[in-house]
Amino acid sequence: MDKTKTSIMPKKVLDFFPYKAIRPNQDNFIKTVFNSVQSRKSVLIEGSNGLGKTISALSACLPIAIENDLKILYVARTHRQHDRVIEELRAIFKKQKVSGVSIRGRSNMCLNNFALKNTNDSKSHMEICELLKTKGRCPYHRNPTQEKYEYLQLQQQISMRPYKSSEIQYVCRKKSICSYELVKSSLSDVRVIALSYLYVFDPVIRTAFLKSLESQLKKIILIVDEAHNLPETAINISSRSLSLFVLKQAELEAMKFGNNDIAFFANFLRNEIEEFAVNIKGEQVVQPRILLEILQKHGSIANPVAFFNELHEVGSKIKRVLLSDGKNPRSYIHGMSEFLINWLNTMGDESFINTVSTYFTREKTRTAKLEIIALDPSKITSQVFSETYSNVIMSGTLQPLQAYALITKLPENTVQSVVPSPFPKENVLSLVCLGLSTAMQKRTPIMYETMISRILEVVENTPANTGIFVASFRVLSALINEGLESALDKPLFYEYRGMSSKTNEKLVADFKACSNNGGAVFLGVQGGRTSEGVDFPGDQMNSVIVVGVPYAEPKPRVKAQISYYEKCFPGRGQEYGYLLPAMKKASQSAGRPIRTLNDKGAIIFMDHRFATYYCRAFLPSWMSEGLKLIPNEDNVLSREIENFFKVNSEKK
Ligand code: SF4
Repeated sequence: MDKTKTSIMPKKVLDFFPYKAIRPNQDNFIKTVFNSVQSRKSVLIEGSNGLGKTISALSACLPIAIENDLKILYVARTHRQHDRVIEELRAIFKKQKVSGVSIRGRSNMCLNNFALKNTNDSKSHMEICELLKTKGRCPYHRNPTQEKYEYLQLQQQISMRPYKSSEIQYVCRKKSICSYELVKSSLSDVRVIALSYLYVFDPVIRTAFLKSLESQLKKIILIVDEAHNLPETAINISSRSLSLFVLKQAELEAMKFGNNDIAFFANFLRNEIEEFAVNIKGEQVVQPRILLEILQKHGSIANPVAFFNELHEVGSKIKRVLLSDGKNPRSYIHGMSEFLINWLNTMGDESFINTVSTYFTREKTRTAKLEIIALDPSKITSQVFSETYSNVIMSGTLQPLQAYALITKLPENTVQSVVPSPFPKENVLSLVCLGLSTAMQKRTPIMYETMISRILEVVENTPANTGIFVASFRVLSALINEGLESALDKPLFYEYRGMSSKTNEKLVADFKACSNNGGAVFLGVQGGRTSEGVDFPGDQMNSVIVVGVPYAEPKPRVKAQISYYEKCFPGRGQEYGYLLPAMKKASQSAGRPIRTLNDKGAIIFMDHRFATYYCRAFLPSWMSEGLKLIPNEDNVLSREIENFFKVNSEKK
């Protein structure tokens, strides 16, 4: 730690930065963020793990937020990351009195069993909650304006200092008060709010949230952490699907409520889609007008817009009736109408495609669905980015920055910066094994056998735990089938398709526990829950092996994404639509073992394609700069790994 560099940080930031020592290059990160936000510019900044991005961004933004009476919204993906914001704010609080709160989704904070049982996503939970409140049927909801002293006291407390959502939930549960509503009603007096992407980027949720905040985007400094996730989240926000199952349920619902016209329509639409999908295997892009052709065939729908709006109204009415009867207020007619309205609204918009796809249910029955797939994340992100006071977009894996700025349409004057890694170079070993690949034509038993030999060389020379993240579940199964488990002399923990998050958590915990008990091997997929969301500091993962480049299956939606980007950014379609998402997954996997400044990790890319300039340019600099290529020969890899850990253990 460099203790002298704090003196070259902006004076205003020093009033907030709570630590005596500063990490290598952290001052660089802080100055870049402070100067950009102070001049009302956005900043797109890559900084590796261990740099202290959270405390740096908060310390740089807080003086500006206070001076200009702005709020800071800190968006991140996991509850753990939200809590980390509050922990850092507590450190700041020792120097400066700032308030902050982490807020989880309504479904996570809700105490009402009826709402919890009868909702399956954030939007339906919001609807049910609003209906229950309007009808005075949630005993946990208090009206803040008429509430007694205790409630007001809690609100005031929240506005005084940083609190984690879990702490507020604990107190509220004891008092039978809805913590979600309490936090929401306190937000207007809180300076920093840590929350999920959806609160800011989903237009429907954002509108409701800004109302609670009593604020507007222009009064907000937005910090987006782990921002490499944002393009995919934005695409998911705008995409929709309608399954044959929903259509069948809509038909039954219409019959139950005595609406024969709607029942007939849902049945007709289902049969038409079923017939259309007979010869479709997987996914097929369809022209949006197929819906109009189906309506024409139906014969009695002269005005589709009016008809779908009518369906929507009927669905809303059914929801209200069900709720007042104390039943689950879910309406399939409502869901169907929302999808159909959306289909019409996106017709002619090149940033969407429509597909029909077939798949098998858990019961192994063949079925089909219609989808509206968004291709342009900027349709979601640019409105937010252009309206806020300033945006701090940060992650450990954002390169090439220009691609990210273009895809998300950051303001043109956005400052772009890559902060050098704080890790001592000798703490990281990056290798590419030549002669190996998971490219389709190379996937032979001999290739997998060779990979297993190389994996053994790594595992045997790694002091404790090794992680292996492969390109797909197919590659994972092939390694298992070729005998990986029996070849290893350390226990193997591996993911499987459809594994529940609870089982996955247990698997990861058991693997981590082996780090001081002889070591183990974890086998998972790139782009999966573990490779993107779990940290493995210290001996929890000394070496990580990245097997194969995780290119997406060339489904029609992937091809459509490439063509869309090609149209928007000539010459870059393949790069932005195909290579970039794959390399983000690979970089995330490769970064798992290097989480703190003291970590020493070996990263082994087991695919020669990582050595090409094409792929390398998409790796974070701290991984790609010292990248060493090694031949596909026995014992070369084992010597590299052995030497690396020997040198490092001698230094300890
Ligand atoms: S007011 Fe709170 S407890 Fe009641 S339904 Fe809404 S979120 Fe749940």
